[in-house]
Amino acid sequence: MSYVDEVIERVVRENPAEPEFHQAVKEVLDSLRPMVEENEEKYRRDAILERLVNPERQIKFRVPWVDDMGQAHVNTGYRVQFNSAVGPYKGGIRLHPSVNLGIIKFLGFEQIFKNSLTGLPIGGAKGGSDFDPKGKSDREIMAFCQSFMTELQKYIGANADVPAGDIGTGAREIGYMYGQYKRIRGLFEGVLTGKGLSYGGSLARTEATGYGLLYITEEMLKCNGLSIAGKTAAVSGSGNVAIYAIEKAQALGVKVVTASDSTGWVYDPEGIDVAALKQIKEVERARLTEYKKYRPNSVYHPGRGVWSVKVDIALPCATQNELTLADAEALVANGVIAVAEGANMPTTMEATEYLQKNGVLFMPGKASNAGGVAVSALEMSQNSERLSWSFEEVDAKLKGIMVEIFHHLDEAAKKYNSAGNYVVGANIAGFAKVVDAMLVQGIV
Ligand code: GLU
Repeated sequence: MSYVDEVIERVVRENPAEPEFHQAVKEVLDSLRPMVEENEEKYRRDAILERLVNPERQIKFRVPWVDDMGQAHVNTGYRVQFNSAVGPYKGGIRLHPSVNLGIIKFLGFEQIFKNSLTGLPIGGAKGGSDFDPKGKSDREIMAFCQSFMTELQKYIGANADVPAGDIGTGAREIGYMYGQYKRIRGLFEGVLTGKGLSYGGSLARTEATGYGLLYITEEMLKCNGLSIAGKTAAVSGSGNVAIYAIEKAQALGVKVVTASDSTGWVYDPEGIDVAALKQIKEVERARLTEYKKYRPNSVYHPGRGVWSVKVDIALPCATQNELTLADAEALVANGVIAVAEGANMPTTMEATEYLQKNGVLFMPGKASNAGGVAVSALEMSQNSERLSWSFEEVDAKLKGIMVEIFHHLDEAAKKYNSAGNYVVGANIAGFAKVVDAMLVQGIV
């Protein structure tokens, strides 16, 4: 059995009931095959793949908090510190009822390669809790965040592990967590990113993931002889990634006709009204059913359906495994040209293969959504030098990083006889730097 297959089998055996983690490992290791075969003896001797798929540390803790009625609740908190070969651990905190160890491990594993691809010195980690922020009062959110940080603060620090936002963790939650860290540790330091501008946050961090997604999509189309202007797009989700992806898409002349949340989706033939979306999601924290009030010509559909619309570009920006084989078939039947992932692993493995087989340009999330964590790393730099850069400066750096990621992975794919396969390119390019650092640091 090949080295890659041995390690995949071991991961499945030793990590039962973690299907998303298995999926992420299989996708990455499968595309590393040519590079692993080339270096098999060296990698085997140093157990490179075994170390790559085993987190350096995984922390699981109790998060007790009290609701507004005086009732106590207990959630589970996680931080998986996956790989620190190229820099301090870095990755978001997901607050969602679906969170379990397997989800956090898949996200932490992806983060290793994503963070490496940015070219910035950040290792891979992820954290979170099965806490559901929906419908909670501000005081309840604060109670949860303070309790979560009371435990997490033991394991993080500006030079050790720097968490950030993800699904369910935005500016409000980061603020409460930062306050509690500072209170317990007595340190005003860049321990979290995605902070508010008044206490060390970076301009353009809020926009970074969505803007970055469009910058790399634009470059991918350009390098395939296509122009992004004048295209139509379907976006799923309506959170931070989706909102700023839609905003940048429109600025580049793309007509985005959909958005979705966990209960339904909207089709707006005239193009999504971003101001209305921000009002509903960022201010009112309400459902997309409200969208029709702002745009009477739009249609609200309960359930799923974004991928049934005829568009040139699909941008899945909601969550993992939201674009299935049936969705991919519908997109291809409707003549889709490109799919670029704003979320982490939103396309199932079968759907990815189907899209690639049918000549659709496919950009995996670890490359296309890397803009968020890239600007997080720029926030760390600004905190270290105790200075703040302008929006234009950060945005220009973000664009440069996304364009560079595209060329880096495009070349890696070509080098290993997989021209145009950006999944292979992203995994190999991300892995190359990490494996280099691991090899020279000894068996740790
Ligand atoms: N949660 C985001 C991601 O999936 C951002 C992480 C960060 O900024 O550290 O990459």
